[in-house]
Amino acid sequence: MNRLLRPLLALLAALPLAAEPLRVVTLHTVLTEIAREVGGEHVSVTALLQPGMDPHAFEPAPADIRGLKAAGVVLAAGVGLETYLDRLERELDAGRLVRVGDGLPGLIEGACDHAHHGPDHHHDLDPHWWHGLPQMLAAVDSVAREFAARKPAAAADFDRNAAAYRARLEALRAWITAELAALPGERRQLVTAHDAFGYFAHEHGFAVHPLLGASTAAEADARQVARIVRLIQRRGIRTVFAEKSVNPRMIEAIVRDTGARLGPPLYADGLGTGDAATYEGMMRHNVSAIVAGLR
Ligand SMILES: [Zn+2]
Repeated sequence: MNRLLRPLLALLAALPLAAEPLRVVTLHTVLTEIAREVGGEHVSVTALLQPGMDPHAFEPAPADIRGLKAAGVVLAAGVGLETYLDRLERELDAGRLVRVGDGLPGLIEGACDHAHHGPDHHHDLDPHWWHGLPQMLAAVDSVAREFAARKPAAAADFDRNAAAYRARLEALRAWITAELAALPGERRQLVTAHDAFGYFAHEHGFAVHPLLGASTAAEADARQVARIVRLIQRRGIRTVFAEKSVNPRMIEAIVRDTGARLGPPLYADGLGTGDAATYEGMMRHNVSAIVAGLR
């Protein structure tokens, strides 16, 4: 650190203003956890998205806008998940909105269905980056950098908190890899309600067969359903998975048509309640359900 900057920062830290927590508003449940873990006592976190809410369908209410305008930093998942972000950004002071996902390494395109779209169709990037541990670890560092830029006096604490949280995520990653070792490559077939598990699939060698695209807003058409039914029969896929925030009607129809089992709902779009109230709990729930269903 610059020699002149250090005493200046020490002076700033002594001022009452610097002692106030950084006001953080989060637009995704996973970012709420990252912000609290990294920020610790130096931040106050307001979560606009509560567990179980569908981030594809969420829109901030007028009362939310007031809180967003007062925030020191607003953390969004980005990569197109929040369809209202461009409008929101115009309401906020410059530099307040951070699209955490946009700067992550290894972003991937959504699952491609050439039979449906034709070979020249280009897909948007998949916004569900938190299902990949490499992306999750990078997001933790990104949030620590954003916090440090806005509250330099606490930068060392943000670094330390981020390192401790990353160590837990690395342990989770080792647990996931060990659990998935029970599934041979040909069993790694994930039929789900919407295209949310691309990062998980990419990391662990699964093929994903979603009924819907990357958003929960669309309806699957009969052709797509028929295609997945054939695929389940051809590959002998034993279990298909509903999701917490998607109507299970279509996936239940597939179960009737194929005789595959219906697995426990997976958490696709963010944290839940109970055993899935934390990121580690959510991932353990999903991985346990996938291993039990497909082995
Ligand atoms: Zn989704």
